[in-house]
Order: sequence, then C-alpha cells, then structure tokens
Amino acid sequence: MRDMLDIQLKRVFGYSEFRPDQREIVENILHKKDVFAVMPTGGGKSLCYQLPAIVSEGTGIVVSPLISLMKDQVDGARVLGIRAEYLNSNLSPAEMSDIYRLRENNELDLLYVSPERFAMESFLQSLERINICLFAVDEAHCMSEWGHDFRPDYLNLKIIKERYRGIPIAAFTATATEKVQTDITGRLNLNDPFTVRASFNRPNLYYRVEPKDDVEYQILELIKSHPGEPGIVYRTSRKSVEGTADFLKQNGVKALSYHAGLDKHQRENNQNAFNRDEIQVIVATIAFGMGIDKSNVRFVINADLPKNIEGYYQETGRAGRDGDPSLCVLFFGRGDIPRLRYFIDKIEDDQERRIATDKLYRMADLASVEICRRRQLLGYFGEKYPDNNCGGCDVCLQAFERVDESVAAQKIMSAIARTREAFERDHVIDIITGNKTETVCAHEHDKLPTFGVGQDKEKLWWHELLDELTRRKCVGVAENTLKLTTKGKDVLFGRDKFMMMRKSTKTEHRSAIVKGGRAPALQTEAYDQELFEQLRKLRRDVADRKNVPPYVVFTDKTLHDMARLYPQRRNEMLQVHGVGTAKMSQYGQEFIEEVKMYLEKHPDRVPKGKKVVMSTDALKKAIDFDNKILELAEADYGFPDICRELNLAPSKVSRVLEVDLKNNDKLNIDTLIDPYIRIEIERQLETRGRSLSNTAIAKMFHGAVSLEEIRLVKASTGSE
Ligand code: ADP
Ligand code: ZN
Repeated sequence: MRDMLDIQLKRVFGYSEFRPDQREIVENILHKKDVFAVMPTGGGKSLCYQLPAIVSEGTGIVVSPLISLMKDQVDGARVLGIRAEYLNSNLSPAEMSDIYRLRENNELDLLYVSPERFAMESFLQSLERINICLFAVDEAHCMSEWGHDFRPDYLNLKIIKERYRGIPIAAFTATATEKVQTDITGRLNLNDPFTVRASFNRPNLYYRVEPKDDVEYQILELIKSHPGEPGIVYRTSRKSVEGTADFLKQNGVKALSYHAGLDKHQRENNQNAFNRDEIQVIVATIAFGMGIDKSNVRFVINADLPKNIEGYYQETGRAGRDGDPSLCVLFFGRGDIPRLRYFIDKIEDDQERRIATDKLYRMADLASVEICRRRQLLGYFGEKYPDNNCGGCDVCLQAFERVDESVAAQKIMSAIARTREAFERDHVIDIITGNKTETVCAHEHDKLPTFGVGQDKEKLWWHELLDELTRRKCVGVAENTLKLTTKGKDVLFGRDKFMMMRKSTKTEHRSAIVKGGRAPALQTEAYDQELFEQLRKLRRDVADRKNVPPYVVFTDKTLHDMARLYPQRRNEMLQVHGVGTAKMSQYGQEFIEEVKMYLEKHPDRVPKGKKVVMSTDALKKAIDFDNKILELAEADYGFPDICRELNLAPSKVSRVLEVDLKNNDKLNIDTLIDPYIRIEIERQLETRGRSLSNTAIAKMFHGAVSLEEIRLVKASTGSE
C-alpha cells in the first residue's frame, strides 16, 4: 500500500513526499478507522481525505461550512482530475438531480455538502443508496460551543455514526483545545479515533514586529518593497480600513477594502478580485479570512495590535499556505493597548473580562518582549519550540546585546519604594521623568530625591523597562499599585544586576532585515524572475479561460520551480512540484511552450539548482503509469487492448484517457473504441439530451457497451 499511495501522491497531486502525519491519516482512513486531526492552516488537510477517496471504491462525503469555500475546493479538486461535486441550495433542481445521478452511478470521488443537509431526511435516505467510502468533517471545531466558531447546524452530524455504521469519519480542525476535542469526538461519536496533533509551527513564515509610527506610510513602504506580491493588511476598524485602502490607492497600489459594512455583493467582488490576482492588496478587518483559500499570500500586515494571540495566529496564518516563504509584520504601538482595553472594559461578565484582558497582555508581550516570536507563539498554544534560534523572526535574526540596566532599574524601583508601593505605574513614571502633574504635586512627590532622575529618557522607554521588570518578577502589581518583590529588592540594593537584551544599534545587523525583509533561512530558492513573470501572466490567462482562481491552476511554488528547472518535456514537467498527470494534460503543454519560447530568446539561461532527475521510484512509476497508457493510445491501440496489455482495470485506464481527451486533440476516439458504438452513443445524447445518465445509456445497449466507453465518448465530445 505504501507504494501505491506514493504513486497516487505524485500522479494526482504532483508531490513527491507526504507532509508529516498525512500518510498515517490516509492509511487509517483506508483501514476504516475514525480520525481526529488538528492541523494548522496550510498543513495540508484536504489531501488527507481526497487521497483515500480517490483510491477507494465509492464516494467520500465532505462536510464543509461555507458555500463560497466549497466552490473553490471543488474547482481545486477537479483540476487534479478528481471527480468532485458540491450540493448547495443555490443549485437548480436540474443540477441537483445531475449530481445525484452521478453519485448513484458511482462516478463521484468526492461530494461536498453543508451540515444543514444532515437535517434533511431525503438527503439521508439518498446517502443510503450509494457506496460511501468516508465522511470528512472539515472545520470540526464548529461542533463545539467552546470553539470560537460554533455552528448549531454542525450538531446534525451526530446522525452520521448512527445511520452509516462502519464508514470511517475523519474530523479536521485548525484549532482545538482539549475541551473542544472532547466535544467533537463525543458528538460525532468517534470510535477510538486515530488522533493527530500536528505542530502549529509554520516554518515558512517570517515574523517581524516594528514600532508603529506613521503606520500608513510604513505599510506603503513595505508593499513597495514587495512589488506585485499579493498581501493582506489587517486593521481593526472599518474607518481605518477605508482610510488605508484609499491612501494606498492614491499612492499607486492596486488595493481594495473588505469589512462587514460593505454590502454582500461588494464584499464578494473585492474578495474575488484579490483571489484572482486582479488587485495586489486587500485591506480588511478580521471579517476577512474564513472563506479564502488563496494560497499565494506573500505577506500579512497587522497594522494594529490584534486582541489576542489566537487572532494573530489566524491572521498571519493566511500567509504562505503554499509553503513558500512569506512575511508577517506587526506594527506595534503602545497606544493600541488602551484602545483595545476600552472595548474589553465594556464586557460585563467579570470572568470573561479578566480572560480578555489577560489575553490582550499576552499579545502585547509577544510584540514587545525580546524572546523569539515563534517560541512565544507556539508556547501560547502549549507547544515547546525546540531550537534556540528559529532563524525566522526579527528577534532571532537581529543581533541582540546584553545591556546592564541596573542603574535605571534602581531609579524606578527607588521611586516605587519611596512612595510606599502605593501608586500606579503612570504616577511612578511621572515622578522619575519629572512631570509635575496635579497628583504628583498633591503628594509632594516633586520633592522626592528621585523626582526627575529619569528625564534623559522618554516615557515610553520607562514603560518598556517597567514591562521587563514586571515580566522578570522584580516588580509586582496588586490592585493596580506597583510592589517590589524580593528579587526586585536585590537589584535595588545592589546585590544583583539587572541585564536586558536590547536590539543592537550596529547597523550591519539591522540592514539585512530592513532591506530584504526576509530571513536568509526563509529565502525562496533562486529562480528566473523574468520567466516567472511570464509564467504568471500565462497562469492568469489560463485561469480566466477556465474561470477559476489562478492558484487553482498552479501555485506560486510550482511556477518558481518551473522558473528554475525550465521543463521542456512532459517528463521534466512532471518533476515540478505540484504537477500531477491531470494538470500536465490540462495545462502542462502550454507552460512547456512558454518555457521553450523563453529559452529561444534567452539561450544563455540554464536550470538553477538540481537538474531534473528521477528522485524516487514512486515518481518514476507514477509517470510511467500514465505514460504507458498514453503511449499505447497514441500508437492506435484500442481501449480494451490497452487494458489487456497493461493488465489494468478499465476504470483506471479510462480515467487517464478521459482527461486527455477533454484537453488535447492528440488522441483519436475512433481508434480507442468502435466508431459504430461512438456514433450510437452520440445519437442517443443528441436526441435524449446531454445529461442522460451513463447507466441509462448502458441499459439501452443491453450491456454491450461499458460505462467506461460511454465516459470516453462523453469526454471526447466535451460533455461531462
Ligand atoms: P489546509 O486545508 O490544511 O489549510 P490545504 O489542504 O489547502 O491546507 O493545503 C495547503 C497547501 O499545501 C496547498 O497548496 C497544498 O497543495 C499543499 N500541500 C499539501 N500536501 C502537500 C505535500 N505533501 N507536499 C507539498 N505540498 C502539499
Ligand atoms: Zn525566532
């Protein structure tokens, strides 16, 4: 089985290796075991249920929460040659009955449905009539009130285990605490599920925090240093979204806005324009996210502090789903904290308010404390990051200096001691910066020896020092007033030093980050930029023609690979990451032609990095499998002869031929099957309608014609 899965991985998806956990999940599903998997966004969940559905008899039913997402998922699956459909209320009755027909003929690998369906008895009954190989529940956290996105409709899914015994259920989510996990497995009644918790680390994301200053200009600068790369800018309010979008447009950036204040139509249009690379940047509130599957988002900018780390993780998580290096920049100013607190303070429930406040400060810590951002991020989700230097965040990549701040620490702690630990943070900082406020004067604190000893530094500087003292437990806070701990007193009385890590001011360390914006470890392998641009244009045209988003045709990563390897033959193209046989048949040739044309103009270009080599046996077999079928077909073998010659099941052979018949005119249907049969089938289709089901046609021929032959004729005439 191992081998067979490797072959299908390359054939269908174009990948030469499984990601961690994918193989185990697939194998468990194939062994009819339930699965519960927590995988981060971009971790590759869809492959985990698509692959078993392809290699099994019968249809996989996929429950997905959003109709907009379903369409993209189905488009994405179809270009891989997977036979996928979706049911939603927007379909006409005729379209619906078509789908039912396909399903009952066992001609579907995957059927995407919304959870509401499971409340409809007619739907449940129709499921009983077909051969189902698995149920996949996507975004399974929607089952739990404890998750962040509870949807009552998901509770309908309880019925699956009762009615369809013996069929494995695989539940997937990108966020699940223990509590949510218990809820999901309980409600779906999963039977001792094979459980996977993948790491939440996103190694291709580079995290960076920059002090927020004139944020719109900062955003503009950043976008300008990434010309043509798609990105998302998150802002908290509708007003700032509109403002920033306008500002960017005025400065020549192709940008649109997205927030809940726009009408549905407008929102969809803007989202589509972004999906299809018609604009470069979308400026959005957090309303933007669910429902986008765009894999080539190259940067995410958080222009305001997110409310909590969950939000930050989700928003930054939309970058780099294709696995290519991507940048996440947070512009952080302390001014964001009181603004968010204002909303939090309005929460009535005490406990909820406390949790929200706590979460906000954890987020502020992540942005301000000089500890690896990745370590902090993962630590928040209970995962320990093993390396000392992640090589992919500003903290790890900038040189830090240990600076002795004992004297400054003594100044501020002495002000705390002399005011008898009875005052708040702002008051203490007023004292040392020599600020004669009303309260300072009223308590005669302007007469203290520590008054004004810290005038040489900005208030903000003292706030940061105090943050660090609090974090390192030298200073405690009780009912808003500052207290000294034993540890703090050791520093105050000179028994201990207070060292701090500060960003090095040495320019050579900083410039690498500021200029390139990317960590060396996260740099994309070198590729031919000019060719990439040309391929990208071609991808746009192909996508428009097929009416799908460009990333559905090929991801950026795939185009980068092409712009490195210059594939000029089918076998070479199949070595490219993300090119399987179905995509090869549909678009491969066009891209090969583009590469050839380019090389004619630039004969000096040579493949960068590894020259095309057969990397694994599986890869070779995968390519051979299809090649042999096509070779024989091109050598005018008939369909039954090909099956016999290669000793393959007719359905396997027809699958490969169908894709080719639909997309190329190299194969001749009349050598594949008897022309007499073809003409008869076509006549039936003409007179009885193109949507005539394959079984109905087969019946007319009293079994003399196989379903595969009918499918081939349909493929050659361009009807589904
Ligand atoms: P998720 O649904 O978990 O957010 P997807 O299933 O959309 O993620 O996969 C994210 C990206 O990773 C897609 O571009 C997909 O093609 C790619 N991917 C998935 N599995 C692999 C693999 N084994 N090797 C390379 N890329 C993969
Ligand atoms: Zn780091």
